[in-house]
Amino acid sequence: MDHDHFFAEKIAELKGEGRYRVFAELERIAGRFPRARSHRDGSVEEITVWCSNDYLGMGQHPDLLSAMHEAIDKYGAGAGGTRNISGTNHYHVLLERELADLHGTEAALLFGSGWVANMTALSTLGAMLPECVIFSDAMNHNSMIEGMRHCQAEKRIFRHNDPRHLDELLGETDASRSRLVAFESVYSMDGDIAPIGEICDIAERHGAMTFLDEVHAVGLYGPTGAGIAEREGQAHRLSVIQGTLAKAFGVVGGYIAGSAALCDVIRSYGSGFIFSTAPPPAVAAAALASVRYLRRHDEIRVRHQERAATVKKRLAEAAIPTLPSDSHIVPVLVGEPHRCREASDVLLAEHGIYVQPINYPTVPRGTERLRLTPTPLHSDSDIDHLIESLCSVWKRLALRTAA
Ligand SMILES: *Cc1c(COP(=O)(O)O)cnc(C)c1O
Repeated sequence: MDHDHFFAEKIAELKGEGRYRVFAELERIAGRFPRARSHRDGSVEEITVWCSNDYLGMGQHPDLLSAMHEAIDKYGAGAGGTRNISGTNHYHVLLERELADLHGTEAALLFGSGWVANMTALSTLGAMLPECVIFSDAMNHNSMIEGMRHCQAEKRIFRHNDPRHLDELLGETDASRSRLVAFESVYSMDGDIAPIGEICDIAERHGAMTFLDEVHAVGLYGPTGAGIAEREGQAHRLSVIQGTLAKAFGVVGGYIAGSAALCDVIRSYGSGFIFSTAPPPAVAAAALASVRYLRRHDEIRVRHQERAATVKKRLAEAAIPTLPSDSHIVPVLVGEPHRCREASDVLLAEHGIYVQPINYPTVPRGTERLRLTPTPLHSDSDIDHLIESLCSVWKRLALRTAA
């Protein structure tokens, strides 16, 4: 078999369906967020990023940069080992304490990424709990799906954000088995929000544990940035809150927060925690600075919500079709993969606006979109330019407008 020929055919399939991924090659400019230099076809241009998950621009915040510089100067580049074998730095411990404090839990546990945190925690729980059945929201992120798949626990999928369906499925399961409900707070592609209180009511009624991914909410919601569960006064009811340090917190890494016993079990049995080198101390130091900063600065969250609301309002006035979103995420609907890529290409090449096309399998076919993430650092004139550019592209490509 000619393996390279086989691989080339697999890639041709993706290209035929308009879902071959092309990465924008960027140099983000510290101090000038959301500006970046974009490398394309041998030339370099300055552009404005409209699709960053560095939702608040914390990745360039002076507090974080100085914490990171200081930690590098003190401790060097890498952690030097797994957490168990010489790799636990003082900053890892401080960060875990801060995260537990943020979520009001007894403990927290740090991972190399949010993906690894979900994968490891869910697969460990699913394998360890006796006869475990995991109830999973239909729109859950890949990292949770991989965790559930890996442990081979029975999985039952409830309709997206549908507590009644969850109730039904839980009712059909033998009450002697362990049950775990896995869901997200803010869903990252539609920007809709789970009814956390109702889901907790049902889980409690059936004696099930709850696992909430707050990746798109930590730093962003609740008076101290602990997420939607904090905003809705539900945090104490969840067995596990999972988050990332890579999105609103602007660095990298993932974590879970929960009881001391639960975190100790994942620490002691979770392969993705045990067998992987600890994150660099400088990463932990920067993440710690970010969490501390955002706990004290609610005004940045207020400004973030205002920017998102302004973009949504301006898009509605311009008849650019959007999906209804309850959060800071603004999905602009194109509905066809090739045109979605084309719209993105024209925005970048001719308007200096970077927004990545989102196609299947990240979103269902027919709902291909441009996912805008306004930040507190996008100015009024950035928004004006965005709306004018989208109108021009919509006209030129004859894309569907809102009725
Ligand atoms: C991005 C994401 C993750 C993974 O987090 P990383 O820190 O980027 O690995 C987990 N869950 C959801 C819902 C995400 O969008």
